[in-house]
Amino acid sequence: MVYRGKGKIENMEFIQFHPTALFEPGISPSFLITEAVRGDGGILRNKSGEAFMERYDPRKDLAPRDIVARAIDNEMKRSGTEHVYLDCRHMDKEKFIHHFPNIYEKCMRMGIDVMQHMIPVAPAAHYSCGGIKTDEWGRTSVQHLYACGECASTGLHGANRLASNSLLEAMVFGHRCFIDSIEQINTIPFEERIPDWNATGTSEPGEMILITQSKKELQQIMSDYVGIVRTDTRLERAMKRLDLLHDEAEALYRSTKLSPQLCELRNVISVGYLIVKGAQFRKESRGLHFNTDHTKKSALLQNIIL
Ligand SMILES: Cc1cc2nc3c(=O)[nH]c(=O)nc-3n(C[C@H](O)[C@H](O)[C@H](O)COP(=O)(O)OP(=O)(O)OC[C@H]3O[C@@H](n4cnc5c(N)ncnc54)[C@H](O)[C@@H]3O)c2cc1C
Repeated sequence: MVYRGKGKIENMEFIQFHPTALFEPGISPSFLITEAVRGDGGILRNKSGEAFMERYDPRKDLAPRDIVARAIDNEMKRSGTEHVYLDCRHMDKEKFIHHFPNIYEKCMRMGIDVMQHMIPVAPAAHYSCGGIKTDEWGRTSVQHLYACGECASTGLHGANRLASNSLLEAMVFGHRCFIDSIEQINTIPFEERIPDWNATGTSEPGEMILITQSKKELQQIMSDYVGIVRTDTRLERAMKRLDLLHDEAEALYRSTKLSPQLCELRNVISVGYLIVKGAQFRKESRGLHFNTDHTKKSALLQNIIL
């Protein structure tokens, strides 16, 4: 909405992935297998059973989150599989249940006894560092509009969020937005002459499949071309396909009655567009943005503002 309102959006290419979400196709949000399981001795294995992390980093399974997520992504792409495995079979059962009771129970409910079977895991989108550009008081570039939480880009996370900083940020900036806005609230004239939505000339959406299919396509495009590891070619492909989805969604928006599903489709296409555009502008690899055509970090520190 802010982008459509000509406000500033920045650094949307910095999307954090959690390396080990439980692989459950179609289930959202994903169930996370905490990284502490690897800290306690869990080992990542590919479909051939190989403990592949030693090929990527001397710290093996204890390498930082981004390196592990990229390694898993690479293993999945190489083998054409949709997940890898987290092997906990060698771990002490009592200790595992004591440290990770929820993971143990959840896996059991799915028929996975972690002492006998490996856990299927895949990376999952976890956090967006970029967003609506704000100053240190949550003020956006649109007058009297504040943003805080994950939708905002305060600059606090840089190019990569440290675990749990987001909740702290949301609290601090939420409070700051309150402090700053409460001082002004009585001085702002309230606009009451907003016309009702005019749906003349539009028809009931005849086929919901037009919306649901576009959303599925968007998810596929973003996962396949704009995920953990990017290339210039993949980004270009993604942008071409997003253009088509955008045109189709706009045509629907103009011709059919509004529905939450149609609004959401329009919004997620815009967000996808901003992520791809940001990723295309950034000709380097930094933090959460990794492009195999530009693997070095640039000496120039720049925010991509759209
Ligand atoms: C699996 C998982 C685990 C996480 N664990 C941690 C953690 O341990 N520590 C940590 O710091 N962070 C964690 N995060 C990140 C953290 O949860 C988020 O950053 C935080 O919840 C963001 O809060 P928010 O209020 O900004 O946004 P959200 O929680 O996303 O809330 C936005 C709300 O707006 C509503 N909404 C959206 N569009 C509209 C609309 N058009 N009209 C009206 N309402 C709308 C949504 O339904 C939603 O309720 C985790 C994230 C995930 C996915």
